[in-house]
Amino acid sequence: MSKRLIIAIDGPAGSGKSTSAKLVAQKLDYLYIDTGAMYRAITFLAIKQNVLNNPDAVINLAENTDIRLSFVDGTTEVYAANMNITEEIRSKEVNANVSDVSKIEGVRTALVRKQRQMGLKSGGVVMEGRDIGTVVFPEADVKIFLTANINERAVRRAKEFKDKGVQVTTEEIKKTLELRDKIDSSREISPLIKAPDAVTVDTSKVTIEEQVDIILDRIKETAVRKNIVVNI
Ligand code: C5P
Repeated sequence: MSKRLIIAIDGPAGSGKSTSAKLVAQKLDYLYIDTGAMYRAITFLAIKQNVLNNPDAVINLAENTDIRLSFVDGTTEVYAANMNITEEIRSKEVNANVSDVSKIEGVRTALVRKQRQMGLKSGGVVMEGRDIGTVVFPEADVKIFLTANINERAVRRAKEFKDKGVQVTTEEIKKTLELRDKIDSSREISPLIKAPDAVTVDTSKVTIEEQVDIILDRIKETAVRKNIVVNI
């Protein structure tokens, strides 16, 4: 197989990571991996098994659960412990607890190992998360760090909930986002920070098409420089 690229997209919740990463992966015909879905899956199982307060049990889940992601019709389907938990991992309860689960060192070690395996096995990957360019693939060919102001991010998330018929106010979402940002950015192990060699794209005022084009331009430049063929 000819050489393919590893593309890392990091940033806070609601910055447009998932939407643009999916579109970029589709365009390139690369594998798309939503690493947040993996932290969410472990959080969901920890809630279900009532072990949120027991870090060793949560680590055990992260080490021993077979998490499968499959990308179908624009959605990441998530399977764990023989259940389809695609919907369940997006609940308010998972939102409220996922950042605390993600702080646990043993959870990160186990999931980062799985993420590296998935990425290296693929012929070209677009992986999104918080620590992809810094920890999971520090050697990634293209690193993008997406940002957007908090109000814009809250409005986007509120719309997603509304589209699913879930009643939640923008203010409520804003509070959860701020809390998650705080925990994700201040944790000791692999916090949410921009890799020094990542390109920052502020998505507050650009359309989805524009952000995808900015990312594709960076990919094209890198591909030319590294003499790698991409179908864009
Ligand atoms: O991307 P998403 O908002 O679904 O991620 C949910 C949570 O999972 C984040 O708030 C963060 O706590 C955690 N996460 C992480 N590292 C990643 C991806 C997600 O710590 N690479």
